Amino acid sequence: MKITTLLAGVAAGALMVSLAACSSGGSGGSTDSAGGGDGGLIGVAMPTKSSERWIQDGDAVKSQLEDAGYTVDLQYAEDDIPTQVSQIENMITKGAKALIIASIDGTTLTSVLQEAADNDIPVIAYDRLIRDTENVDYYASFDNYKVGVQQANSVLNGLGLVDLEGKATDGAPAGPFNIELFAGSPDDNNATFFWEGAIDTLQPYIDKGTLVVKSGQTDFEQAATLRWDGETAQKRMENLLTSSYSDGSKVNAVLSPYDGISRGIISALTDAGYTVGAEWPIISGQDAELDSVKAIESGEQFATIFKDTRNLAKVAVDMATALLQGNEPETNNTTDYDNGVKVVPSYLLESQIVVKDNIEDVLVKSGYWTEDEIKG
Ligand code: BGC
Repeated sequence: MKITTLLAGVAAGALMVSLAACSSGGSGGSTDSAGGGDGGLIGVAMPTKSSERWIQDGDAVKSQLEDAGYTVDLQYAEDDIPTQVSQIENMITKGAKALIIASIDGTTLTSVLQEAADNDIPVIAYDRLIRDTENVDYYASFDNYKVGVQQANSVLNGLGLVDLEGKATDGAPAGPFNIELFAGSPDDNNATFFWEGAIDTLQPYIDKGTLVVKSGQTDFEQAATLRWDGETAQKRMENLLTSSYSDGSKVNAVLSPYDGISRGIISALTDAGYTVGAEWPIISGQDAELDSVKAIESGEQFATIFKDTRNLAKVAVDMATALLQGNEPETNNTTDYDNGVKVVPSYLLESQIVVKDNIEDVLVKSGYWTEDEIKG
């Protein structure tokens, strides 16, 4: 009798807690949600919902913070810099105890982060380094140079030149292969890391003549894609095909730093008459976005780089909770990420190349995507 009453009480309590959590969401801006425990408010600023990966990141950070007893203000700025600045200002006004920020343009947060510092609010740069300020405490990311190396190796692997670890294959073809190069957004610190990792890996093949950048566009500035925008990439690919491949030659490979850019490149190729299975180029990517995993299944994209957003969220959440408990967050790199004012202590995770053959092992077995989602 007593136990039954107790259980009923626990169940009613749980229901009240979950109802309270449901009704606490939504406040200001392009608010995603707020909710959770009473450990205090943590502001989480994400760049955009137009790319699936940031939705995964935001969801993972929010739920892990809530599990740790914090209330979360999660905001997306739709790639608009003033919106992101005002969202962060708003978080400070609401009394956030810590900020986790994936910036749109890493150079534009200097004054809002001065406000954060004036209010003793610690700041964690999430995946993208925040530049030109001393008011960023820690950085959670991946080994971004290595991501670029992996992107280049995935292209070389698709051309039959190396294995997925980058080791030259026996009897590799001599080429020459025509390749075109795309880079990410010039205002994102990661873009140059990806580019440098990729170019350092491709350069020996360019020097030997195995790879030929037929357009001659080998500078970062020429290859960069503002805001990582797929349509911008599509237009550039269309122009490259018209200007450098109208003599009947084919592009054999495209270095792409992000799945959304790869999708733009794929559209340009399709519109220009390229078909999968018939001289379709090898195309890289990044983020293992669902549509791109499907494109790998269908042969449109050769590879992507998987960066497990659940693990990145955990690093950032651990950093925030350590700081709020007066402890020192764990770092594993204190040399590579100079933001122009200081070297920001970082924790860098490892990424993985995904090709058709290991989708099951890497993405399905880890529970990142289900078989049904990929095949659906
Ligand atoms: C991230 C990449 C992502 C890109 C575009 C970069 O800062 O590190 O994972 O592909 O932004 O969203």
